Amino acid sequence: MTDRPSASVYGTYGGSAASTPLMGGSEEPLIFSLSSPGRRAFQLPSTGVPDLAPDDNNVELPALPEVSERDLVGHYTRLTHRQYSVDLGFYPLGSCTMKYNPKAFDEVAEMPLLKDVHPLISAQFSQGWMEIMWTLDRALCAITGMSAFTLQPPAGAAGELTGLLVAGAYHRSLGEHRTVVLVPESAHGTNPASATLAGYRTVTVATDSDGCVDMASLESSLSEDVAAIMLTNPNTIGIFEKDVVEICRLLHEAGALAYYDGANLNAIMGITTPGKMGFDIVHLNTHKTFATPHGGGGPGAGPVGVRAGLEQYLPGPRPVLNEDGTCQWKMPDHSIGRVHSYNGNAMVLIRAFAYILSNGSDGLKKVSQTALLNANWLLKALSGTYEVPYGSSCMHEFVLSASTFKRRYGVKAQDIAKMLLDRGFHPPTVSFPLVVDEALMIEPTETESLQTLQAFTSAMVEIASEIEATKGASAKAAPERTPVGRIDEAQAARHPIVTAVPRT
Ligand SMILES: *Cc1c(COP(=O)(O)O)cnc(C)c1O
Repeated sequence: MTDRPSASVYGTYGGSAASTPLMGGSEEPLIFSLSSPGRRAFQLPSTGVPDLAPDDNNVELPALPEVSERDLVGHYTRLTHRQYSVDLGFYPLGSCTMKYNPKAFDEVAEMPLLKDVHPLISAQFSQGWMEIMWTLDRALCAITGMSAFTLQPPAGAAGELTGLLVAGAYHRSLGEHRTVVLVPESAHGTNPASATLAGYRTVTVATDSDGCVDMASLESSLSEDVAAIMLTNPNTIGIFEKDVVEICRLLHEAGALAYYDGANLNAIMGITTPGKMGFDIVHLNTHKTFATPHGGGGPGAGPVGVRAGLEQYLPGPRPVLNEDGTCQWKMPDHSIGRVHSYNGNAMVLIRAFAYILSNGSDGLKKVSQTALLNANWLLKALSGTYEVPYGSSCMHEFVLSASTFKRRYGVKAQDIAKMLLDRGFHPPTVSFPLVVDEALMIEPTETESLQTLQAFTSAMVEIASEIEATKGASAKAAPERTPVGRIDEAQAARHPIVTAVPRT
């Protein structure tokens, strides 16, 4: 191990998972190796029904681990201590908005009167729920400048597919069959994937030297085959698309729609809206922007909003408020149908509802302003040490490049990520967006304090000087303080070995 300050120097602000011997020091065996025949977590009194012997009727019983409750809970508790999370420390994973999620909103989602309501209950007995959903719909419209939402899609990517199906329904209603979706080079991978799934061909639009959509490339891609453009704004480089109004105008002129990937909504709340920019269809990632912790694969919610004139194609049923103050579910006239059972991931929607109402419009604006301030502070703090490929200021996130380190010492963005693990921090997004060589995409979010940003800066600056001092050798050796060392990621994905292997 190289000589450097211990991870606990940063530990208060990072996760410090690596600095605690219990968490990082000892191997945790598989639960199968804790197994002892006949041991049980609990025992029920005999039912009098004979046990099923393995050779009865050729039934093969699964080879489950046999452990006591104490060993079972100990095993999983030790594993949870190795978990990094937004509750533990700084999580600057660009594009993902891994902000800290206040616990109050979990409590709202756990209220029995909300959580225990059966999704098939009649409208008469679920007026409160419907009113919440309707109010959330209105709030999301106010935040985005759209006219109506569906709350059904369970994630951003599902929202993208929903939005493109809505676009398809719109074009079919005009008797048009359009086959192409434009996607900028800097777009998230889900954009072309959703376009393909919706039956479109993707055409990539180039990025200009400012990190924005290249207008010449856009204009040359436009034709009457184009159904829509999918645009993230601010884009994944953390830059506001300066020509966004013109982009939407050009798309409309060609009879196409403008789709807003709302994953970066955290940058613009209360400041501007996709509606003002000229977009027709929007998805939001409530699990990024509105208080649901994510990263473990869900559940999330990706509500889709549309401008006036497209409501009739939205999935349904949607909650609507009648004139007499009651609510009812209504299927839009030309709905594309359901995209999720019942009302989507309702508990995630409840968190978003509670978060939006408790912040209010002033609070949401402050959220975005603080996210912008934190990102710009960090960009300035790191730009003397790391290469900044685009722009001298940013929106809520920014991208650094490790290409100088790669040229000099063969050190990649991923190696820097591993060095951050040794210092108790979750690394930024690496190798995305694809337009930046050896990208390190950093999104501090509004929930982090100045002290956290300073601690992260110290770690990043120290990493850079250590790379210089060791000519890259320490980068290749990292991580050294985590439960497992460097993993061959291709092998790990294709031939996973799930037994605990002592590190060499
Ligand atoms: C996260 C993200 C998505 C996909 O959203 P999910 O909710 O993970 O499906 C799409 N676009 C961008 C820019 C994102 O950051």
